[in-house]
Amino acid sequence: MSLAVTGAQLDGNAVGLRAEDGLIAELGPEVTPKPGDEVIDGSGLMLCPPMVNGHTHAAMTLFRGYGDDMPLMEWLRERIWPAEAKLETEDVYWGTRLACIEMIRAGTSRFFDMYWHGPQVAQAVVDAGLRGTVSSVVIDQLDPAKGREIRAETLDSLDLIAAAGDRVSPSLGPHAIYTVSSESLAWIAETGAEREIPIQIHLAETEQEVVDCVETHGERPAAYLDRLGFLGPRTVLAHGVWLDDTDLELIAERAATVVANPAANMKLAVGGLLPYPAAALAGVALGLGTDGVSSNSNLDSFEEVKLFALSQKAASGDPALLPAAEALAIARGRRSAVMGGTELAAGQPADFLLLRGSEPELSAGDFDADLVYAASGAVVDTTVVAGKPLMRGRVVAGMDEVVAEVRERAVRLTR
Ligand SMILES: [Zn+2]
Repeated sequence: MSLAVTGAQLDGNAVGLRAEDGLIAELGPEVTPKPGDEVIDGSGLMLCPPMVNGHTHAAMTLFRGYGDDMPLMEWLRERIWPAEAKLETEDVYWGTRLACIEMIRAGTSRFFDMYWHGPQVAQAVVDAGLRGTVSSVVIDQLDPAKGREIRAETLDSLDLIAAAGDRVSPSLGPHAIYTVSSESLAWIAETGAEREIPIQIHLAETEQEVVDCVETHGERPAAYLDRLGFLGPRTVLAHGVWLDDTDLELIAERAATVVANPAANMKLAVGGLLPYPAAALAGVALGLGTDGVSSNSNLDSFEEVKLFALSQKAASGDPALLPAAEALAIARGRRSAVMGGTELAAGQPADFLLLRGSEPELSAGDFDADLVYAASGAVVDTTVVAGKPLMRGRVVAGMDEVVAEVRERAVRLTR
């Protein structure tokens, strides 16, 4: 399968792009379609790299608008965990399909997911055409015996996710240090290292979590995880709001990635944000995520990158902090190897966006600044992943059916 884009704008020039076998084969002003190419007329469209959503729970589209305006633990205990107890595997499939459509519409090519029934998530990713680093969440309620019981199931789930297809990568997803025992965390670290796969965990989202960690283990969260062999270049730590300088230095030393989730942190009022200035100074690898829609409540990485930049400026009192180009690089997964962001160049994966240059938000000014501060995901006209257009003219095939499925299932789960 081959694809050609003609006459798209890139850095002020009209260029052509050809994709073959999922990779960018040629890019430049002289590039024209070859016989057999599917051709996209790029006139009036602006070529740019896609977004990487570094942390989400995609199927939570099923619980959008259910239990908003509540404190985190109360929301989890009274709303989300009881509703999740009713989840069937098919619910997770359809909830993830809807999330994939939202992400395609917002120009996202790849996402990191932690949720129940990972194999269904993986199938939804494959059917949607996106890329996903997928994990089945592990929770043993701090009971090592329960943790040992679910090991076989966790390994089976990894194998099923790995078998789903080329665009899906398996990953381990221990929920958090307050829901998974030390023994299970150590086993997960070992399994992740053996299989050379990413591990995703929530870390230091609330101050209470850090206080409890120090009280129980006598050390701060990063030191605790490091003692269990957990921190390495494939470790993805979501939130990191309450990490201090010693945590960040250790995380940087181990080359682990911290993913900021500003919308969720503000919505749940967890008392702060990822300390970006200290993280940047320590040289921590960074990503950006939306978190699940229950705590966001959408999957628009364009909106997220604006919130990221603005919230960090507001918190620091420094308007020069986190300039647009740097915020975009983080949102595109280019500030962490594990996030897997790619660039527009021959030989790279054929993942790219065509934006509507005629939209008012992109009509004048610096392109990067417009993307961060002015645009939403609605400026995306075409999303291409692995050389395949997943959306053209803002139309994603099958959207109405997926919306109807999720609407019906959400009613059952939340009544
Ligand atoms: Zn999360």
